[in-house]
Amino acid sequence: MRTIRSIRAMQHLSHTLKGEQKHIGMVPTMGSLHAGHIALIHSARRRTDCVVVSVFVNPIQFNEQKDYEAYPKDLKRDTCLAKEAGADVFFIPRVEEIYPSGYGTFVDVKGITDRWEGKFRTGHFSGVATVVAKLFSLVQPDIALFGQKDYQQVRVIQKMVRDLNLPTRVLALPTVREKDGLAISSRNIRLTPQARKMTPRIYQSLRMGRSLFQKGERRPHQIQKALVQHLLKEKGFKIEYIGLCHPETLEPVKKVTKGTIILLAVRLAGVRLIDNILLK
Ligand code: AMP
Repeated sequence: MRTIRSIRAMQHLSHTLKGEQKHIGMVPTMGSLHAGHIALIHSARRRTDCVVVSVFVNPIQFNEQKDYEAYPKDLKRDTCLAKEAGADVFFIPRVEEIYPSGYGTFVDVKGITDRWEGKFRTGHFSGVATVVAKLFSLVQPDIALFGQKDYQQVRVIQKMVRDLNLPTRVLALPTVREKDGLAISSRNIRLTPQARKMTPRIYQSLRMGRSLFQKGERRPHQIQKALVQHLLKEKGFKIEYIGLCHPETLEPVKKVTKGTIILLAVRLAGVRLIDNILLK
């Protein structure tokens, strides 16, 4: 596995790979790699000739400086994990090179970013879309793999790729979970042991929503109510949103149907957790 830090070296390599007709797969991450990231790398490995894993903690997608500074970082460990998972290139650009002084171009995906995460984290998706557009431009991936855990994010990226006619296919892979159902996330290590014990309730509530649908419930507010009740049975959860929405537009649905997605964000002891479930 080759580690690349400079933009020039990355551009040079992708140019060479393209010349050799190699298929490039990319997994963009913010590091602190875990089983969710590893699953994406494995999938890229199976699908392409050259797997590029990027680690870049993107300052412009954080709403709070404190959150950015506290974001877990362990490049040594990430290097080993990426290599073990089958990455060919470990791309770790520097913040100053991605956003040099005077940087002023941002990608703003309209509509789909108005609700849910977009509403609770102003400017977040502009930060995400901007950095992903830059990473795609540097790496030139044929396919890029994202996790369904950040469902709205992957929809935003897919829309950006469509709108800008970028030559990258964006795939969304299933959420990898702990045994008790908690969606794996780099932020989970911030949970206190007591908060961690409460977290299975999140996926339980989503599964409960799905089972209500399977039993015939079609009213979104009834399903939403059941989720809220289940979460609030235990003290500590602060619900930011629970939305039953169309899987592509992410607009709230009036009637729940096959394919409706339930999106959820909660805060637990100061840690923000998101999850979702597709109704089948
Ligand atoms: P992050 O490093 O958190 O920005 O995530 C990098 C990529 O990994 C994104 O596409 C995420 O959606 C994906 N990802 C994060 N957690 C998981 C998970 N538990 N299962 C699957 N993919 C994940």
